[in-house]
Amino acid sequence: MPTPSSDDAFAEVKAKVDLVKVVQEHVRLTKRNKDFWGLCPFHQEDSPSFKVNPQMQSWYCFGCERSGDVFTFVELIEKTDKRGALQLLAERAGVELKKLSPEQKERSDSRKRLLAMLKLAAQFYEYVLWSTPAGEPGRRLLGSRQVKEETARRFQIGYDPAGRGFADYLRAKKRSLADAQEAGLLRRDGTDFFAERVVIPIRDERGQPLAFTARTVRQDEQRKYINSPETHVYVKGRVIFGLDLARDDIARRGHAVLMEGQFDVITAYGAGIQNAVASSGTALTDDQVRLLKRFTDELLLVFDADRAGRQAAQKAVLLAAGHQMRTRVATVEGAKDPDEFLRAAGDDAAKQWEQLATKAPSGFEFGMEEAAAGLNLSNANHVELAARRLREWIAQFPTPIQEEYRERAKRWMGVSGHLLAAEPDERRNSGRPNATKVGKNGLATPPAGKKMTVGRYLLQLLAVRPVAFDRVRTKITPDELDEEDRGIYVRMLETYERGGVFGLEKELAGYPAEEQDLIRRAWAAPPPNVDEEVAVELAERIRLDHMKGRHSGIIRELSEAERGKDSERVARLEAEARELARAIADMERRG
Ligand SMILES: [Zn+2]
Repeated sequence: MPTPSSDDAFAEVKAKVDLVKVVQEHVRLTKRNKDFWGLCPFHQEDSPSFKVNPQMQSWYCFGCERSGDVFTFVELIEKTDKRGALQLLAERAGVELKKLSPEQKERSDSRKRLLAMLKLAAQFYEYVLWSTPAGEPGRRLLGSRQVKEETARRFQIGYDPAGRGFADYLRAKKRSLADAQEAGLLRRDGTDFFAERVVIPIRDERGQPLAFTARTVRQDEQRKYINSPETHVYVKGRVIFGLDLARDDIARRGHAVLMEGQFDVITAYGAGIQNAVASSGTALTDDQVRLLKRFTDELLLVFDADRAGRQAAQKAVLLAAGHQMRTRVATVEGAKDPDEFLRAAGDDAAKQWEQLATKAPSGFEFGMEEAAAGLNLSNANHVELAARRLREWIAQFPTPIQEEYRERAKRWMGVSGHLLAAEPDERRNSGRPNATKVGKNGLATPPAGKKMTVGRYLLQLLAVRPVAFDRVRTKITPDELDEEDRGIYVRMLETYERGGVFGLEKELAGYPAEEQDLIRRAWAAPPPNVDEEVAVELAERIRLDHMKGRHSGIIRELSEAERGKDSERVARLEAEARELARAIADMERRG
């Protein structure tokens, strides 16, 4: 919550920094008329659609439609939050942020002390691991897991020797044992908390250690892993392991790989998969998703292969969907986790990983496969069971996307819609003998030809159910269709208007041969869902694609107009682009 005094700080900082100068450190800007233009740093583009208005101290990108002021710019470019942006800009402007109350000061000082202590501990463990004889058991363990020194050093892995190694070190250095205890590094009896363990720092996204997770080197130790207790600098559900190392690669590749264990991430890093992170010691939390969302919109989930791992993946899919993040789920085959999978692959790891990632279905599809796993979909009872699981799966997604998912589930399973419709009361309906109905006409063949476009699908549907034209023609105009679909669409529409639902049969002989072919094939093997609702949905998709195409066209025209210094045309195009962007956003929200 920003307090009034922090509002003042925002205003003061904003008055002292120049947005143009801040942007220029990241983007080459060219002045045209009153504004500055450049290539947008937040999306890929070849011609500038990123505009900075120096009078308003605001920026807008016509391509990705991001916009804001100097704080939002710094937030996005530095991948920080509002507070972080304020801090960075305040330093730059020489503005001192608000004075702290004595309690706040105390808290902030204690935080600083803990962080310094954690940093020192990480350095100590790392030193012991690589530079002392006492580090031998740790080196052996890493060797057996094929972790190379170079990789281990990136993660600042260390080793805490038996007994009181760290405590003695602190004493010798005259450092506070109380701080170390508070940071969870010493037990109450003064011995090291992580003695005889390989110690892995859990660092925040800027690389500051906040806690440790530690694996024993002893065979007889029951507790393989132990973790630092939560402190006021470490709340485990808020940290993402490996994010400090992965953030650049996440940006480069456009997605993060989310794993379960620290060693999964470490092994992946060593194998060249450097956009991997782990939720670290907990099931994925809302806070962690929010943190990841600052860096990417897409997660590739690669969890353990067992039942628990698959369930965790499903939960993560739902959690991410709640934050409008896309997910895909990869399954490691023949291994219990990504660590084992990658080690088994050896030198071939990067290639096998690529194949794994390419095959990964979307999170939603993964859930559908899980729902149907072990079932025989030519058995009507099994179909009903699968449909119930799918219904439950879909019901957990945010409401706006449920309808689309229901449609996709229908198409995917070839099951009729009523089986997937949301039912408030399962019990009441379960007695109905609808299983036989499904067996007879609920199952349909999957769409023929994998590369069917949305336009083609719509044409097939209209061939089988021409009455759908009544609704479709109010949704799209022919020029919104792809060129290759336009001719046949117009011809079929005219036929329908002349001859109604039987018109097509009468007039078909007069159609060009390839159009006859398409229609006859649709009649012989109808698309999976011959449903007017589906037709409307397809039409809307076509319309949306067309609008997006037009939007990028206008953006291209806009930069041309800029070059020609045609300010009237620029203004007109800008208005058009804005309106179109709004309409697209509107449609996407509804869809
Ligand atoms: Zn952009």
